[in-house]
Amino acid sequence: MSKPKKLILILGDQLDLQSSALSGFDAKVDQIIMIESAHEANYVWSHKARIALFLSAMRHFAKALEDLKYPLTYVKESTESLVDELRKHVLKKKITHLICVEPGEWRLKQAIETLATDLDLSLDMREDEHFFCSRQTFLDWTANKKELRLEYFYRLMRKTYGILVDAEGNPEGGQWNFDRDNRKPYPKKGPGIIEPPAAFEPDELTQEVLAYVGKTYHSHPGSLEHFQWAVTRKHALEALHYFMEYRLRNFGIYEDAMWTETPFGWHSMLSSALNLKLLNPREVIDAALVSWKKHDLDLSTVEGFIRQILGWREFVRGMYYLDMPQMAQDNYYRHERALPKWYWTGNTKMACMKDAIGQTLKYGYAHHIQRLMVTGNFALLAEILPSEVCDWYLAVYIDAIEWVELPNTAGMALFASGGRFTSKPYVASGAYIKRMSNYCNSCQYKPDIRFGETACPITTLYWNFLMKHRTQFDANPRTRLMTANLNKISAEDQTAIALHAQAIFQHIEEI
Ligand SMILES: Cc1cc2nc3c(=O)[nH]c(=O)nc-3n(C[C@H](O)[C@H](O)[C@H](O)COP(=O)(O)OP(=O)(O)OC[C@H]3O[C@@H](n4cnc5c(N)ncnc54)[C@H](O)[C@@H]3O)c2cc1C
Ligand code: SF4
Repeated sequence: MSKPKKLILILGDQLDLQSSALSGFDAKVDQIIMIESAHEANYVWSHKARIALFLSAMRHFAKALEDLKYPLTYVKESTESLVDELRKHVLKKKITHLICVEPGEWRLKQAIETLATDLDLSLDMREDEHFFCSRQTFLDWTANKKELRLEYFYRLMRKTYGILVDAEGNPEGGQWNFDRDNRKPYPKKGPGIIEPPAAFEPDELTQEVLAYVGKTYHSHPGSLEHFQWAVTRKHALEALHYFMEYRLRNFGIYEDAMWTETPFGWHSMLSSALNLKLLNPREVIDAALVSWKKHDLDLSTVEGFIRQILGWREFVRGMYYLDMPQMAQDNYYRHERALPKWYWTGNTKMACMKDAIGQTLKYGYAHHIQRLMVTGNFALLAEILPSEVCDWYLAVYIDAIEWVELPNTAGMALFASGGRFTSKPYVASGAYIKRMSNYCNSCQYKPDIRFGETACPITTLYWNFLMKHRTQFDANPRTRLMTANLNKISAEDQTAIALHAQAIFQHIEEI
C-alpha cells in the first residue's frame, strides 16, 4: 500500500527546522506548504514593520527549506485568507492528511479544525514544543485552584525544570522572586551609556519585502525606515549572544525605567525572535544561566529575566488557551469609549504617551512598562473599550501574536478579565511616571496637579477611577493604600477632579 500524501502546514510564527510538524517528514512523499495571506496583515491595521517582519522571516525560512531540497509550495502575496488558500491546495493536490503545529491563535486553530472536518481530512495538530509547559500541564495546574497566579506557576516551573533551584528544590539566593530589586529608575542624570541592541541591516530579500510592504500597505501605521530586526535563525542567535554578553547585566535593575530617546533601555528585544520560533526559550534561559556565571552577574538580574520567559511567557500562553474565546470578549468595567485617534499617530500633548507611541510607530517596539504603565494605564483610566485597545496592541508591536498580546492587554493592562489572573488593576497616577522616567520634565502638564488647565490627565483620571471604584479598591488589601490616599483629598477637590475628568473625556482627542 502506498503511503498517504501528507501536507505539512508551516505558519508564519512557526519558523523552526526542528519543528514538531517536521518530525517524521518524508521528503519523497510529503509536501510542505507556507502561505502569505494579506488577510493576516489586514484583520487588524498592522504596523508596516510587523508585516515586513513576518514576510521576511517566512521567505528566509522558505529559502532554508529549499536549500534542504524539501518539497515546498510557497504561496506568495495571496489576497485570500490563509484557510481558503489551504483549502484550494488540499483539493487540487488531493491531500488526505494534514499536519501542523497547534497555531498560537485560537481563531486560526478553529478555522483549521473546521476545514479538516469539512474536507474530511485527517488532521494531526501537534504540540508546540516552543514552550516549557504543555497545554495539558497548564490545565492540570489550574484544576481546583481558587486563584490563578503567576508566582505559584513560576515556582512550579522552576522546580520542574531545575532552574535556579538547589538540589533540595529551594530557590537560588533564598528567594523565588527579586522583583523588588528590579524597579529602579535611571539615575537623575539619565541612563548613561547603554550598549545598543544587536541590529541587522536588511539583506536583498528583506529589502524586497520592505519595498513590497511599503507599496502595498502604504496606508498602514508605522515606519519601515528603522527595520533592523532578526529575520533568520542565524540573526536570532547573534542577537541572543550579543544580549547575554553586553546587555543582560543591567536588565534587572532598570527593567521598569523609562527615559526620552532611550527606546530600548537594557531590554533584550528577543520577543519577536522567540515568538516566530527562531529561538527556543530553553536556549535563551540556558544562555542567561551561562552569562550569569561567566560575567558574575547579580542574581536579581538573571532571575528577573528568567521570570519573564519561564514565568510570564508560559503563564499568559496557558491563560490564553484556557480562557478563549471568552477572553476576547471580557469587559469587566464595561468600558465603551473609542480609542483616541492619536494612538495611531502619537499626536498628543502628553509627553509620556507621545514618547511611547512615537517609538512604537518608529520601531514597532516599546518595552513592558511603557506598554503596561503608559499606554495601557491610560487606556484603562480613560475607560476605552478593551477590544479596541487589544486591536491596537495586536497591530503595532513587532512581537504581537494574539496568544501573548491578548492576556497581557485584556488581562493585565485593562483588568478586563476582572482579576482572573492578576491580583489588582495596574493603575497609576502621573507620580509613578514621574518617578520612573524623565517624561514629565518636558511635558506641558504637571504630574502632581489633579485638576485645572495644567493638571496631568493621567493623574486626574487616576483619582477619578479610584473614586468610581472605591469599593473594589477598598476591599483589596493590595489597593487599600490607594483609597486611603484618596480619602485624604477634600470633598471639594474630589468634585473638581470628577468634573475635570469629564472635560478630559469630552475633549479626549485634544489632550
Ligand atoms: C499591554 C501589553 C501588551 C503586550 N503584548 C505583547 C505581545 O504582543 N507580544 C509579546 O511578546 N509580548 C507582549 N507583551 C509583554 C512584553 O511587554 C514584551 O514581551 C516585551 O516588552 C518584549 O520586549 P523584549 O524582548 O525586549 O523583552 P524583555 O523585557 O527583554 O523580556 C525578555 C522576554 O521575556 C518575555 N516576556 C516579558 N514580559 C512578558 C509578558 N508580560 N508576557 C509574555 N512574555 C513576556 C518576552 O519573550 C521577552 O522577549 C505585552 C505587555 C503588555 C503590558
Ligand atoms: S505630566 Fe502626566 S502626561 Fe505629562 S509626561 Fe508626566 S505623567 Fe505623562
